[in-house]
Amino acid sequence: MIFPMSDSNTFLLDNKFINIKESLLYARVVIDLPINLESSYLYLIPEEIKDEIKVGSAVYIPFGKQELIGFVTEIGSRKDFNSEFEKNFQIKPIYYSISSETLWDKKYLELTKWISEYYFTNIGVVLSASLIAEFFNESKHELELIITKDEIKKLTDLSFEELIILERFADSKKKGFSYQLLLKKSGLNKEVFYKTINSLKKKYLIKNKEQDIEKTENNNISFSPNPSSLILNKEQEYAFNTILSSLGKCKQEGLLSKLFLIHGVTGSGKTEIYLNLIEETLKKNQSAIYLVPEIYLVPQALQRLIARFGESNIVVWHSSLSKKEKIENWKKILTNPNSNKIILGARSAILSPIKNIGLIVIDEAHDAAYKQASPAPRYDTIKIAAKRSELENCTVILGTATPNISDYFKCLGNHTILKLTKRIEDYPMPRVHIVDLKNEFPMTNKNIISNVLRSSINEALSKKEQIILLLNRRGYSSHIFCRACGFIQKCKNCSVPLVYHKNLDSMLCHHCGFELRASINCPECTSPHFKYFGLGTQQLEEEVKKIFPQAKTIRVDKDQLNKKDQYLNLWHQFSSGQADILIGTQLVAKGLDLPNVTVVGVVIADTMLNFPDYVSYERAFQLLTQVTGRTGRGNKPGRVFIQTYQAENPIFRYIESHDYESFYNTEIEQRKSFEYPPFINLTRIIFQSTDENLCLEYAKTMLDRLIEFSPQHPELNTQHSLLGPAPCFFSKLHGKYRYHLLFKCKNIASREQLFNKLFNQTNKNAKVDVILDIDSVNLL
Ligand code: ADP
Ligand code: ZN
Ligand code: ZN
Repeated sequence: MIFPMSDSNTFLLDNKFINIKESLLYARVVIDLPINLESSYLYLIPEEIKDEIKVGSAVYIPFGKQELIGFVTEIGSRKDFNSEFEKNFQIKPIYYSISSETLWDKKYLELTKWISEYYFTNIGVVLSASLIAEFFNESKHELELIITKDEIKKLTDLSFEELIILERFADSKKKGFSYQLLLKKSGLNKEVFYKTINSLKKKYLIKNKEQDIEKTENNNISFSPNPSSLILNKEQEYAFNTILSSLGKCKQEGLLSKLFLIHGVTGSGKTEIYLNLIEETLKKNQSAIYLVPEIYLVPQALQRLIARFGESNIVVWHSSLSKKEKIENWKKILTNPNSNKIILGARSAILSPIKNIGLIVIDEAHDAAYKQASPAPRYDTIKIAAKRSELENCTVILGTATPNISDYFKCLGNHTILKLTKRIEDYPMPRVHIVDLKNEFPMTNKNIISNVLRSSINEALSKKEQIILLLNRRGYSSHIFCRACGFIQKCKNCSVPLVYHKNLDSMLCHHCGFELRASINCPECTSPHFKYFGLGTQQLEEEVKKIFPQAKTIRVDKDQLNKKDQYLNLWHQFSSGQADILIGTQLVAKGLDLPNVTVVGVVIADTMLNFPDYVSYERAFQLLTQVTGRTGRGNKPGRVFIQTYQAENPIFRYIESHDYESFYNTEIEQRKSFEYPPFINLTRIIFQSTDENLCLEYAKTMLDRLIEFSPQHPELNTQHSLLGPAPCFFSKLHGKYRYHLLFKCKNIASREQLFNKLFNQTNKNAKVDVILDIDSVNLL
């Protein structure tokens, strides 16, 4: 029996005084609001649906005048949130929970908290990056009626509002009814509507319709891999055994690190090791994440995974899946959280909320695509993998022939580098020829293919072997250029060179899409020698078709990758031998395993060497070594031709001799003396605005503030330095001027302090976007 006491909040229950408000539960809800770092808010959990709402639920909430989706990160009673109550704002109730499943477990929430702190993004942004878009579509949040129309008539204890809702629902004869539509049909005000819905739920008359992620009770498929018929060679076996002994073990058990680097030359059998270790992981009833740098490498990896493990345990996870596929995959992840699975995908799959992870494989771990550029969180996949490893005690493998200098430096320190120095079956490494274009054809663009390359291609064609031609980064080498006055046609919005597209007879900006008709004469000096300088993949394709009319040529570039099936078609065409020559941008250098390719040509290597950032040599070495690795992977020897005007550059000596260590040794010395990563942490603060002066002024203000705040961190003063403001490499993009500050520091904790202070104590300027790129790897 409950007796109300004079104070209306206090009741006497079973002879004990209790405060009803004390017994209420509140939820800390984070919202995906990129502008605000502190976007967590307190909400009341309606008594009637308290079982539905858990830590890790997605909920629908009122927020100011709007309604939004938020994520519950903490639940507690009033005393747990005392400080918030002291602020004395009105605490509103949660409207409803979007799914009865908890979407994330504690460890995952801990991971996102770390990501948000490290990258200065709010947790809501990070959590929504792990969700599929369907969650954000309110019209997909549906209710289901549990009783029939006749049964409604028999109910006697319904309130007026309850009756309205039930009748509207029953009248429609639909099985599911979206919250939004029902709200409209009911004519009730929002607060009353959601309150009524909750009481109907409590009475078991309606419930959330689990449409997107319903439980499927199958998956008793027993795990039976097709064992590999290959016997690992000595180096593979050593790497396999070393990593195997770390699986399931924690660091405390004498392990130096759970992160391993398999530094294996191209074609040395790294993938085979991953597959064997994935098998061991599944046997231990744990799941594995397998990452490749680009979506288009997924099919090749999928094929090998399916051949080994069957289809049922594999979940493909990346941004360009269809809606239906995404929902299917969500189902697979959320149902049966304890069954063992393999998540295969590109960068974003590192954020997949899979539970019970034993192993994370990052293939081609050097690839720049593993760093998210935009939007926030601008995370580095390897950093996140390392954090997951710490939180969930899983093993991480980085596999590559060309490790990033920073990763290599760290793994050297931990003694976790495993070397594969030979190709499988001792196939020789391809022979690399540096072709000096200065000798080959003085400054004419008529001959794109040098004589040596041409005769090698002819030879390969006559033996029915295949050829890959790489032309890196279109847009850098196909700008319109006046040979008389040097005028370069640039985009008026983005200040990057426009790219000539022959089929349109016009020039396009590859950043904003701006289009300009190609003119015949130079707009500056009217000279007729106004031509597109260098070339794009299209022009290269035309030339190649002219020079080798007997060959079937196909071309791959970024445009085609947006159309998923088109890329797959091209890949099938080439891998099945229907085409002889594959032409493409750096995409063709990545990870393809095609034994019939015996000639690789790099049409012009110069553009990549002249890039103005600290990783340009690293990137050039990687790209050239990787593309070299696409050849000679079977029993036929491979040959590589790198055409350049800078043949004397020492980087080519390391590439010719496949000598990573020497390259590493020179590069690490450079990094040390010029203070670049791994010796410091580099943060880039980017300022963007349509008003150039404002942009620069604001960047200067921020610089002043940073300097001003620094003395209060004496430990910081000697350890960091600030550069800038300077224009970014792309000094104007999408109509906005861009400047940046570079911040180098040794101590991450003091960086955190400094930036928190900076952002809390500096006025924002609505006209200037500020982007923080933590661990920046380029100056674009
Ligand atoms: P990587 O990943 O290092 O480029 P892969 O794992 O793709 O190399 O191996 C290259 C080729 O060699 C593949 O076709 C693979 O099936 C084969 N291979 C790998 N390991 C062995 C082995 N131990 N014995 C025979 N063939 C192997
Ligand atoms: Zn000119
Ligand atoms: Zn533009």
